[in-house]
This record gives sequence, structure tokens and C-alpha cells, in this order.
Amino acid sequence: MEISELIQKQRTYFLSGYTKDVNFRKAALIRFRESIKRNEQEIINVLAADFKKPPFESVATEISIVLKELNLAIKNLYKWNKPKRVKPSLLNFPSSDAIMYEPYGSTLIIAPWNYPFQLAVGPMIGAIAAGNTVVLKPSELTPKTSGLLAKIISDVFDENHVTTVLGGKETSTRLLAERWDYIFFTGSVPVGKIVYKAAAKNLTPITLELGGKSPCVIDETAKIQLTAKRIVWGKFVNAGQTCIAPDYILVHSSIKDAFLTALDIEITKALGADPKVSPDFARIINEKNFERLNNMLSDSVIFKGGQTDKNDLYIAPTVLTDVSLSDTVMQEEIFGPVLPVLTYDTKEEIKKIIVSYEKPLSAYVFSQKRSFKNWFNETFSYGGGVINDTLVHFLNDRLPFGGVGHSGIGSYHGKKSFFTFSHEKSVAKRGTWLDIPIRYAPYKGKIGLLKNFMKWL
Ligand code: NAD
Repeated sequence: MEISELIQKQRTYFLSGYTKDVNFRKAALIRFRESIKRNEQEIINVLAADFKKPPFESVATEISIVLKELNLAIKNLYKWNKPKRVKPSLLNFPSSDAIMYEPYGSTLIIAPWNYPFQLAVGPMIGAIAAGNTVVLKPSELTPKTSGLLAKIISDVFDENHVTTVLGGKETSTRLLAERWDYIFFTGSVPVGKIVYKAAAKNLTPITLELGGKSPCVIDETAKIQLTAKRIVWGKFVNAGQTCIAPDYILVHSSIKDAFLTALDIEITKALGADPKVSPDFARIINEKNFERLNNMLSDSVIFKGGQTDKNDLYIAPTVLTDVSLSDTVMQEEIFGPVLPVLTYDTKEEIKKIIVSYEKPLSAYVFSQKRSFKNWFNETFSYGGGVINDTLVHFLNDRLPFGGVGHSGIGSYHGKKSFFTFSHEKSVAKRGTWLDIPIRYAPYKGKIGLLKNFMKWL
């Protein structure tokens, strides 16, 4: 079916009102959940086939996150959708006012490859819960996962309600040429700009979930071994191909050596002496990214790792030291298992480095000193982050997830996903039993009265 025909059909379906019915939405989400549960092993298999994603990571970072979001939406849908009464303004007396939540209509969701299941299904849950139709464009770089997603979606939904369009950049471009009521994009900053431009053409509201260089600062009071363990987990899960992975380390120079030793120990503890044979370490998604990451190893000092195998798309968990800001690794988001360690002595040095980049999607600070943690959070703007750990803010569905500045626009997760995909319609319901005459012309002699009245409010 042609894309324009598909969109027209979904638009007609939306206008027919089926998706406005909360019972209909809930039933669709329940069918989706059951299908994902039934297909759990198959999802694990395709993720492993696409980039050797370890089964544990597939359950922990893809399937269980999505099931948790589905459970939450199914449980709370009626509550979220209920109009919220707000206190009326005295200016409108008598009135009863409320915010109603209405679906935008036709939504387009474009997903990346790095968490190809979770980052496609996560936004879909919000869109469906809020009563929209959905066209999902998953990533072409994980063909097996995207294919399975398309199959699950066609089994569960009427294609006029939710469907998948498979393809790469050209397909995405054709989709973006159409008019949508909402676009939700997860991916890189350059493509985010293209998507934003396409949305602007029709004034389409948008969420952009992008990336950036997320700093990780460790002061001299941090618990070194625990800090290293939590960083090794957050950096090397999914082979570092995580939008919120700590991109680079800024460690106080007085504990640099102790921290590097701790990193060495924790990497070996988690992935063994040769991570290539570990079943718990994924591969780089494709040759292009392999080459990009390989280039980053050339002009810094390798403290640990550095082994690569192009045929296997393998890059060992690698720690770089004596890194300077002009090194290749500090020029762009790393998005792979390469961890540069830089040092600082003063807060001014930290500030100079962090603000020399665009506002990051995440930031992490490891410290036992309250004043340092407060300073960090009051000084830097970032999408979201964690004190004394990495990544885990993502796991709390009560924390909206998104970027700021170049790392993104808008947010989602938990109930925020429902509100992201809903228009907040403000309705004031006026009483007719009283009509205060002050606002009506002729105005002569009323200005003093108006001023007195305004003083009360
Ligand atoms: P990408 O921008 O290359 O691709 C994302 C999607 O856009 C894919 O579906 C792709 O087919 C499509 N696309 C690619 N080129 C396009 C074009 N010119 N026009 C229209 N569509 C196009 O991103 P990626 O490589 O899949 O993912 C990596 C990036 O995504 C990283 O920068 C990472 O930080 C970011 N990311 C952000 C989040 C988040 O939640 N904020 C999550 C994961 C990844």
C-alpha cells in the first residue's frame, strides 16, 4: 500500500472515533502485552541475531521495560484520561473548569537501532494509550528485530489503527513528507534536525529524543570501587551503544590511578580476561560504526582493551587515558565501548569542559560531598541523570525521560507518555444563572470598578 493511502486510511479510522473509546485502547494494549509475552523467546533470538545482544540484557533493557510500561498504562488509563478539574477563575464566575485529554490523531514514530525493541514499543504505548493511530518506522540496521516487530504489530492491531513501515532513510524521508498530527523521533542530532524541519512544514508537534556527550564526574570523595563497578555496567551494557551511557570521565587527579585500577578490575570481573568470548558482551551494529569507533583509538593512550576484530564487529571494552579535548574521541558522541578518562583539579576546569559541548542527554556525578553534588546540579543543564550511579534514572517511570537543547525536545515514560501524546484541551464551562455586566461596552465609568475588582484577585 502507498504511504499516502495508508495515512488516509488511518485518518479515516481515527475520525470514525474508535480510538476515542478508552475500553478499545485498553483492550489493544492488553493484546499487545500478551503478544509480547508470547514472543519473548523470539524477541531475545532476533536481538541476538542482529548484534549478539546477550539474552539477559534483552530481558533487562528491552522486554521487561516495555512490559512494565504496558502494565502501568493498562492499570491507569482511565485515571489518566479523566478530565482534571481545576479551580475556576473568579473573573469567570460562575464557571467550572477542566482540562480534557484528547488524542492528536495520526502519529509517526521513528525508532533507532540501539535498543530496537524498547525504543520502538515504548513510545507506541503512550500513543495508543492516548487514543492515536500509529505508523511505526523501526530501524533498518536491526532487520530481524524490526521484522519481528512488524509481525507482532500486524497480528495484534488493525492496520488502520497501528502499523509498521519498514525501510531506511528513503522510507523515512517519504513518511516525513506526509502530514502528521504528532511525530516522535528517537535518533541522532543531525537526523533530529531534519525531522524537526519536516514537522515545521505543517506545524506538527514533536518529541525529539536525541543524544550527546554525557559527562561523568568523580570527585576525590567518591567510593572508588563501587563507582568503577557502576560505571563499567553503564558504559559497557549493549557494548556502549546507549544514548545515556557515560560518554567520558572527569576524575579528580588525586584519585586517577586508583580509579583506573578499579576500572581494570571491574571490567575483568564482569566480562573476563577476554571479553570477546564473553556471552555477556554485544557487538557493534555495523561496519560504519566499527570504523568510526576504531578511529577513536588511534590518537589516545590505551590503558585497557583496544583489541578489535572487524569480521566479528568486535571492539573490546576500552579505557583511554591522557586524553585531550582535541583527540578524535572527544569530537563527537562515542556511542560504543570506548571510555576516555580525563582529569581535573578545580571546579572551573570541570565547567570549562562540560559547557564546551552542547547540553547532554545525561550527566552523572560520583561524590560523598553534598556541596559538590549540589554545585554540579545547580551549575549544569542536562536531560536527566544520577548521583552515584549511571543510567538508572531511566528505570523510574515516574521520572520523565528526555533531553534539553541539542539532546532533545520533550519527554516520555510512565504517565508522561500518555500526556506527551495527548492535547491538553482547556474548557471553561460558564454558568448562565448570573452575568456580571462589567466587561460589556459601553465602558464609560467602569475603569475604576475594574481596577478595584482586579485588586481582589
Ligand atoms: P539515526 O538518527 O541514524 O536513525 C534513527 C532513525 O532515523 C532510523 O529509523 C533511520 O532509518 C532514520 N533516518 C536515518 N537517516 C535519516 C534521514 N536522513 N532522514 C530521515 N530519517 C532518517 O540514529 P541511530 O544511529 O539509529 O541511533 C543513534 C543515535 O540515537 C545516537 O545519537 C543516540 O544518542 C541517539 N539515541 C537517543 C535516544 C534517546 O532516547 N534520547 C535513544 C537511543 C538513541
